[in-house]
Order: sequence, then structure tokens, then C-alpha cells
Amino acid sequence: MSGIIELWKTLGIDIDKHNKLLQSQGSYIKEIVAIQKNRPQKMAYFDSLVTESHFKRLPDLVNFKAQGNKIVGAFCLYAPEELVYAAGAVMVGLCGGAQFPIADAETILPRNLCPLIKSSFGFKIGRICPYFQLSDMLVGETTCDGKKKMYELLNEETPMHVIEIPHNPNTPHGRTLWLKELELFKERLEELTGNKITPERLKQSIDLINNRRAALKRLSDLRRAIPSPISGIDALLVNQVSSNDNLGRSTAKIHELCDELDERVRNGVGATGKDAVRLLVTGSPMTLPNLKLHSIAESLGASVVVEESCSGTRYFNRFVSPKGDSMGALLDALVDRYAAINCACVTPNPSRLQNVSDLSCVFKVDGVINYTLQYCHAFNVEGVKIANLFKKQDMPLINVESDYTREDSAQIRTRLEAFLELIIAKAESKMN
Ligand code: SF4
Ligand code: SF4
Repeated sequence: MSGIIELWKTLGIDIDKHNKLLQSQGSYIKEIVAIQKNRPQKMAYFDSLVTESHFKRLPDLVNFKAQGNKIVGAFCLYAPEELVYAAGAVMVGLCGGAQFPIADAETILPRNLCPLIKSSFGFKIGRICPYFQLSDMLVGETTCDGKKKMYELLNEETPMHVIEIPHNPNTPHGRTLWLKELELFKERLEELTGNKITPERLKQSIDLINNRRAALKRLSDLRRAIPSPISGIDALLVNQVSSNDNLGRSTAKIHELCDELDERVRNGVGATGKDAVRLLVTGSPMTLPNLKLHSIAESLGASVVVEESCSGTRYFNRFVSPKGDSMGALLDALVDRYAAINCACVTPNPSRLQNVSDLSCVFKVDGVINYTLQYCHAFNVEGVKIANLFKKQDMPLINVESDYTREDSAQIRTRLEAFLELIIAKAESKMN
């Protein structure tokens, strides 16, 4: 233990605050995750990633850096991780999902800002997150206004590369800009690492990340079963925690979990009974340890079976599929993949509506939760179209806007309870 504390100190971590963070992580695992009944045994690995990521994974990364390698911190699905790994670096996710660092952030940032932005910033300026401290460079992107302005402040702490995202990417102009931005990022990574990104290295890296996306897609597809073999809490947790694990290892562990879930599906074993109300959650991302909505919904007996979000299907619903082995063909395939991300920051964004509608059918959901983080204008406004879409389809939908505190938990619980009653009454009236 004393060795790891010394390591945290060398990274400049504020030990008192960090201890409090570890305590809060331990307690939410106990209070939200571990109390679930009948969990898949293979979830033990992912639970341990939460509690041990600052112990076991960290020394691996410190050794990696000691050998002259680089670590790139990222915040968004738009960060082209294939290029990062092709440059011989490792990418770590730094998106904040905890309330804990927000007090530090609010000493600088305005209070009326998305909690994800404040939490991410607070982790850095409060010296709470070792992954931030380890990062040699941060990669951001011009998605929402709050994030991109926050990046200007982060740049004063750690060198930052900001990718300019075309907000209408499916035009010839948008694709040209994406390609240029990928080339610039590639050059910046080569400069940072001293490694040339060759077509061979990029191809290997694309395969590595495609494998990870395929494993997560397999996990997601298994949730189509009635009953779903895994709770929404556990599935979301896997998505959240595996992003900072060793890529090859986490991919293998997700497949091991899926093997167990396959068996549960064959035997009709579910996380809930087969009559549980099946819910789709769509909207703002939920990053670790934000499990609030899922834990409330599932404590009421519902089953969250799919998340249309960056902490869900948006990460793995498309692979990078090169049509050749040249650098040009590989970069074109990256443009195809990244220009297709249907974040609410894109305008217009018809593919998200189509996608969320398709998911509601494929996962046989009974209702939709349109989830928005407070002050997330992009998802909040786009939520109007989502609500209109499902109204036309006669699919029950509830809007939930929330933050990372527990203050609104009782209110959300009451609203979800009424929503589930409405869904059940609707189903019963159809049967009569
Ligand atoms: S919601 Fe948009 S801005 Fe946020 S992580 Fe996803 S792609 Fe990035
Ligand atoms: S949740 Fe919304 S406001 Fe927050 S960082 Fe993502 S896009 Fe921006």
C-alpha cells in the first residue's frame, strides 16, 4: 500500500481528496452494483476494475511511460483511438461522471454548466485523477460549446489537441474537413511519440479497436433476449469501466462474460423476470460512476435493455471497414466511421432518429427514457424530435433531466414509478 501511495504522490495527486474518491467508489459499488441479485459471475472482473483501477492498472501505465511511451487522455467518442494506438501510445478516457470533483471545478467554471464538463475539469484541477496526471497530451473536439471552451482552460494544464468536428459531416465539405483533421491529428501524434504511423500499424490498430467494438456489440445483442441475461446496471458498468483497461485483456474479458450470458439465455435465466418492463435509454452519456437512472429504474423492477448513447450503442454500432491497405484507404475508412457518429452536436441529425427507432424495435422495448444531463442543450433540444418520433409510434416516453447529485433521486423515482404503471396499464388494456 505504501508503494502505491508514493506512486500517487509522484504523480502529484492530492492524497486526501483521492482517498475520499476511492471511498465513494467503494460505496457505490456496494450500494448500487453488489446488492443486485443473481449477477453473472464474470462481472467480478469488471467490479474489480472500478475498485482497483487506481492500484493495479496504474503501475502498468507508469511502467509503460517509463519506457518512453506516451499516454493520450480523451473525452469523447470522436477521439480517433485507432490513430493513438497506431502511434504506439495508449488512450485513456477522462470523462467525469462523479459529483465529487465538481466543487473544485466550480471555483473556476460557471455553475450552470453540464456536470460532465465540470466533473472532467474538476478531476484535473483538483489533482484527483491519476489518469489525468499520467496523460502527456489531451485530445478534445469541437462538439458542444461548454466542452470546447473548457478545453481552452485545460490547455493551460496539459498540452491539448483539439479536433475540429464538422457539424454537418455528410457533405463533401464535411468529409474533406474530417480527412484534414485526421491528418493533422496523425502528425501531432507522430510528433508526440516520435513514431511514424505506417499503414501496417494503423491496420493493426483498426483491427484491435474493431475487436473491442465487436465484443461490446456482442454483449449488447445478448440483451435482446427476454428476459435480458444481464441487468442494465451491469451492462452499463462494463461499457464504462472497460475503456481504461488494457485493450486486449478487456476484450477477452467481455467475451468471457458473453459466453456466460449465452448460457443464461439458453437456460432462460434473466436479471429480472420475463415480464419486466423493458426500457431504452437515449440521450446524454453516462460516464463512471453515473449509474443513477439505471439503478432507480431497475430497483422498481424494470429492465434497461439498451442505451442509445456514447456509453452505449453509439460506440460499437459501426466498425472501421477499410476498402484497401493504403494510408489513403485507411484514413477514408476512419472518415466513414467518425463522420457517421450521430451525436446531438451534429446538425441535422436524422440518422439518430432512425437509429433510436430501430433499436426500440430490435430490443422489443415497452418504453423510452429520454435522458439529458442538466445544461446539455444539444441533447435537450434534440429530445423534442425524439419525443415527437415516439409519440407518432405510440411508444411511452418520459423525459428525465438530471445531474450527478442524489438530490433528485426521490423525485425521479416517483416519476418513473408512475411511468412504469402507465406502461403496464397500456399493455393490459391491449390484452383485454
Ligand atoms: S455525446 Fe457527443 S460530445 Fe458527448 S461524448 Fe458523445 S460524441 Fe462526444
Ligand atoms: S453531455 Fe451534452 S453538454 Fe455535456 S459534454 Fe456532452 S454534449 Fe456537452
